[in-house]
Amino acid sequence: MEMKRIFVHTYGCQMNVHDSEKIVALMENSGYEIVDDEKKADLIIINTCSIREKAAQKVYSQLGRLRKLKEKKPELIIGVGGCLAQQWGAKFIEKAPYLNLVFGTHNICHLPEFIKMIEKTGMPQVKTEFHESVKSLGILPRSKNGKVSSYVTIMQGCNNFCSYCVVPYVRGQEESRKFCDIVDEVKTLAASGIREVTLLGQNVNSYCGTNGIVHDFTDLVQEIGTISGIERIRFTTSHPKDLSDKLINCFSAVDILCEHIHLPVQSGSDRILKMMNRCYTFADYYEKVDKLRTVCPDISITSDIIVGFPGETDTDFQATIDMMGKIRFDSSFSFKYSEREGTAAAELKDKVSECIKRDRLRIVQDLQDRHTIERNRAMIGNKEEILVEGISKNSHKDLTGRTRTNKVVNFEGNYELIGKTVSVMIIDAYLHSLRGELTKEEVAKCLLR
Ligand code: SAM
Ligand code: SF4
Repeated sequence: MEMKRIFVHTYGCQMNVHDSEKIVALMENSGYEIVDDEKKADLIIINTCSIREKAAQKVYSQLGRLRKLKEKKPELIIGVGGCLAQQWGAKFIEKAPYLNLVFGTHNICHLPEFIKMIEKTGMPQVKTEFHESVKSLGILPRSKNGKVSSYVTIMQGCNNFCSYCVVPYVRGQEESRKFCDIVDEVKTLAASGIREVTLLGQNVNSYCGTNGIVHDFTDLVQEIGTISGIERIRFTTSHPKDLSDKLINCFSAVDILCEHIHLPVQSGSDRILKMMNRCYTFADYYEKVDKLRTVCPDISITSDIIVGFPGETDTDFQATIDMMGKIRFDSSFSFKYSEREGTAAAELKDKVSECIKRDRLRIVQDLQDRHTIERNRAMIGNKEEILVEGISKNSHKDLTGRTRTNKVVNFEGNYELIGKTVSVMIIDAYLHSLRGELTKEEVAKCLLR
């Protein structure tokens, strides 16, 4: 029997990227193969994000294109998953009646059943219930075909209700996976050749997994730190209010925990932080940064910043700029505040105009570029440990990998080094990457291999 083919469009964060990997794994087990051209697919899934309006708009334009594809190929099945699907539910089918499936964030594991039902009945399906125990958390992604790095979901949902954010409404209440299930998954990944794991959750600091006794996030990091074959641990994201001294100390105590933390600050103004319901002041945040840099002087710190939150004055914005000058992030993602229906901030008056938001965003991004270049240049002359991920997209002569501090490094080297950890001297620095060359010791090792 001829194999059916699946194509997945993914929007949004790492969490969505990993959900798409799970979708592909599930459908591969049901007899589908993945293709890289949607025109060849029998099943197209759009994995959506609703964090900001911009991400949602991209989905609408995508849907318009897919309508034309469906007109040419009526047997094509098109499904929409992710946060926007959770939020919109049946409204999606009203807007785009050619859609076959809308499935929410708690229903990924049932995808093969939904597809069978559509094939059998031809009827559109809408599945957006929340479940108390989210089975999709434990789906093992498909085999990595030579990849060295993998995401591992440790929890889902969020209980924080930052006033601007839609996540608690579309991903549900926080739920931690069982400690032993996560450890077993990492062992399986290690046995399949994975060397680096990134532990995923909206706020990994509040991980609370049971295994007879209760384990916190640091217990998990320490346990994964003992798994043979795993050389690097990363995690994302950390809410500053819950970043404990115990976790900060892991950066010196757990050898394989990489020296990088993504710690979203959102604003430098205490007034705005309060309205955002972030539960910390800038002084609290700065204290944590200070402790991180004391325990781990080389740590790279990255962040998220929102400009134009309702009521943000010039003085509040200046506080954000001053904060950036004081901390000097290695890099940051910055966003214009985007009103999300149903969130507390959507009710606030005193909206900031699009034009001011745009200007403030540009100022933040220009400043961040200067800080990023400054921090990258400071690495010139360093010997860095690089986990080689593959061939560089820009030149087939170059290999590409990351420092432990999560910076991309390109350097000349033999393809046999892919998947290995090598020592590289940094010789130049740009905004988005570093240039390196294998150290003399590494070249000598290569000759002996
Ligand atoms: N859980 C993470 C945390 O608390 O730091 C972040 C999750 S969210 C997917 C990623 C980032 O999107 C946030 O840190 C925030 O900067 C941004 N974001 C969320 N809602 C937003 C909104 N309504 N408008 C603009 N940016 C938003
Ligand atoms: Fe959204 Fe705040 Fe939860 Fe992060 S911690 S997902 S920003 S509500």
